Amino acid sequence: MPHELPKAYEPGAIEKRWADYWIQEKLFSVPTPPPGETRPVFTLLLPPPNVTGRLHMGHMLNQTQMDIIVRWHRMRGFITLWLPGTDHAGIATQMMVEKQLEKEGKKRREMGREKFMERVWEWKREYGGAILDQMKRLGASVDWDREYFTMDDNLSHAVREVFVRLYEEGLIYRGNYIVNWCPWHETAISDLEVKHEEVAGKLWEIRYPVVGSSQFITVATTRPETMLGDTAIAVNPKDERYTHLHGKKVLLPLMNREIPIITDELAQPEFGTGAVKVTPAHDPNDFEAGKRHNLPEINVMDEHAHMNQNAGAYAGLDRFEARKRVLHDLREQGFLVAEKDYTLSIGKCDRCGTIIEPRLSEQWFIKIKPLADRAREAVETDEITIVPENYRTIYLNWMNNIHDWCVSRQLWWGHRIPAWTCGSCKEVIVARETPSKCPKCDGSKLEQVPDVLDTWFSSGLLPFTTLGWPEKTRDQAVFYPTTLLITAYEILFFWVARMIMFGCHFMQGHEQDGAIKKASGWANKKNDSVPFREVYIHALVRDAERQKMSKTKGNVVDPLDVIERFGTDATRFTLASMAAPGTDIAFNESRTEGYRAFANKIWNAARFMFMNVDRVEPGLRPGDGRGVRPYAGVAGFRAVALEDRWILSRFNRVTANVNEALATYRFHEAANSIYDFFWGEFCDWYLELIKPRLNIEGTDKSAAKIACTNLVNLFDASLRLLHPVMPFITEEIWQAIYDEKPTLKSIALAPYPQADEKQVDLASETGMAILQDLVVNIRNLRAELKVEPKTKVSIEVFAHESEIRAMVEHNRGAVERLANVEKITFVGRSLAKLAGSRSTARFDVHVIYERKIDVVSECARLKKELDRLEKGIGSGLRQLGNEQFLAKAPQTVVDNLRKQQQELAVLKEKTVSKLKELGCN
Ligand SMILES: [Zn+2]
Ligand SMILES: [Zn+2]
Repeated sequence: MPHELPKAYEPGAIEKRWADYWIQEKLFSVPTPPPGETRPVFTLLLPPPNVTGRLHMGHMLNQTQMDIIVRWHRMRGFITLWLPGTDHAGIATQMMVEKQLEKEGKKRREMGREKFMERVWEWKREYGGAILDQMKRLGASVDWDREYFTMDDNLSHAVREVFVRLYEEGLIYRGNYIVNWCPWHETAISDLEVKHEEVAGKLWEIRYPVVGSSQFITVATTRPETMLGDTAIAVNPKDERYTHLHGKKVLLPLMNREIPIITDELAQPEFGTGAVKVTPAHDPNDFEAGKRHNLPEINVMDEHAHMNQNAGAYAGLDRFEARKRVLHDLREQGFLVAEKDYTLSIGKCDRCGTIIEPRLSEQWFIKIKPLADRAREAVETDEITIVPENYRTIYLNWMNNIHDWCVSRQLWWGHRIPAWTCGSCKEVIVARETPSKCPKCDGSKLEQVPDVLDTWFSSGLLPFTTLGWPEKTRDQAVFYPTTLLITAYEILFFWVARMIMFGCHFMQGHEQDGAIKKASGWANKKNDSVPFREVYIHALVRDAERQKMSKTKGNVVDPLDVIERFGTDATRFTLASMAAPGTDIAFNESRTEGYRAFANKIWNAARFMFMNVDRVEPGLRPGDGRGVRPYAGVAGFRAVALEDRWILSRFNRVTANVNEALATYRFHEAANSIYDFFWGEFCDWYLELIKPRLNIEGTDKSAAKIACTNLVNLFDASLRLLHPVMPFITEEIWQAIYDEKPTLKSIALAPYPQADEKQVDLASETGMAILQDLVVNIRNLRAELKVEPKTKVSIEVFAHESEIRAMVEHNRGAVERLANVEKITFVGRSLAKLAGSRSTARFDVHVIYERKIDVVSECARLKKELDRLEKGIGSGLRQLGNEQFLAKAPQTVVDNLRKQQQELAVLKEKTVSKLKELGCN
């Protein structure tokens, strides 16, 4: 017995059931294909969400697009691997656990590193799976057997190997760097964890005496205490006010140090006095300027933001106390010129609210140029394609201006740097295994460097480490380079660029299995070290008013909430239908509501089909095995009537469109053409047209059987077409189509429809268009004449061409039923002048109904119609007059346009004469 569909479409229950089923049956698990495999391969790495993450609209869009592309490839016969996992997310996770500890009155440092790490792992075990559970709810067709976590043993081992190799190759070094420092947490924090606030503050102007003259240079600052660490004054090289001071020195007040006047773009002539103080150890921009001019870096604070011995008389003071004293002394000594009110932006620690202090500290760096050169080349030579193309330019610009990468973080949660310091001779040892003694002095007092690596270090390695690197594995031969990466713009540099750099470096010389590479369509690519062949950057999801979603604005839409109300399928469909490449999505719930109605429409159509199929003959549903073989078009379909030939033709054309759109990431086109076909053509017209043929009482049984079989097969094919976008409802109905359990465990494994040229039938499309036009015109006339819906009307039809008369004659029953007509009479004269009539280029139709028409509104309608026609004629003329268009457009398009022009002209003539007839002015 087939699985029956419940009366009402309730996405919640259906979706949960199939999501669980797919996982239990391991439908998307991909065992390593053995040598000799010749099928194409499609591999996609999931951008790993943070283990602390919760699903947001950005994920939802990303996951929807990935799942559509993945399901589409799988159904087209690719060995399809979608690799899921989570990122340990260093700072985010550490802070999450610290927050917990704080509530218990505990502190990380008091606990000690080992105990704290145990605690984080405990947290991870308990809560770390939440985001993946949410993904499961979305139906993401990933290989759960290959799920990874960036701190798994094998991945951590690979991270260590990479670090040591880079060090051995001279690509890792230690140096000073400015970081965002939270004096309360005593740690560096990333830019992402700094919260910026506008506050009312002060701007102080201080004058520095120029050495060997009686002149002064005045600078302005909001942090006067940092002047104790100044090592230069900068003026803009083009600023003529200061040309005479180039090469001179000033005497730093309070410290009595001589410091140079340098010329640098850091100083903006239009800003303040045009001169700025340079404090390389306490400001990131000054730090960069200091590097450019080889300035000393004088750090005047310790890790608690207290002044240190470099601050002379101010040593030991808290930074704000020091500020007061410095200002007092400057004023006293005549160096303070002014104190002004000033609105400034200050950075605070996102968690404790302490004001961030930019701080100079010793960090580990990767020498990036050699890595970046190869990564740039991979994109320049199109070994990696970036879509949309504007991101390619952005990427290349960035690669040309890249700085060394600071990879160390002062955190505990993460991959600890494999470096040890000798307590006796201070030698630094970088090694794969924990060393037992110092190679330089034989001492055994070795201590591992406390820092961990930037989270992006390990995630940058994922394309090959998840495939078994540093071992040489069969998985790498098959699945590397991965095929595609779908991700957000905001991590193009953080992540995408790093993967390209690491991939090109560590996988250099790698070759993908030749047969698989060829079958997958990459024979023209030379470079198999790249981590992926293509990158697709998706847009942002904004709110309905195109505002960026943010917590502070309170306009964040929670995808789980939308799913709860409208279902995952409808939510996925919304995002797909709005996802034109390079365009942000203004998410509007009313669209989702509309797509829920779409799902409902399909549901009701399926129930209608089952009712009829079972009534006509039990066992008419396809048995085991149908749909298993890939085939073009719709199999088992016998086109006996116009509507059959028409729907078959439309199906094949839509199928061609959808396949083409998906191949170029035009998700919106794919979704919208399926929608228009399924609802607008299949449900609204085809189902209505074949209704009488399904009715056995009215017709013979063999005709009914043909109609039922056609319906089932077309439905099956349409479900497969829709499946990648709406996986749940399609699975539910598809499973119900089969009399017995199908051989295939899921529609997800059934072949994706391919267009069959032979099933395209333009004549039937034209015929059907006229028929639809006729029905719609009669319906409109009925509405205008205010005919009761139940009242049948008689109509007259005038058509020049005999084929049209024959076609209408042949489909008389359909017109009568669909427009509630009791009698159709063909007449030999134009009906255009009659009240209650409509004219098209092909026919005139007149509804015989005894109500006087409203001349005023009829005139208004005709004028509007005339206007529309004239516009149409005008734009057609413009196109036909455009030589470029004529040169480029296919002949059929031009011919169609000419034909359309003639039709419009005929219509215009008819409308004008009717206007005259009615005496409209
Ligand atoms: Zn803090
Ligand atoms: Zn030593």
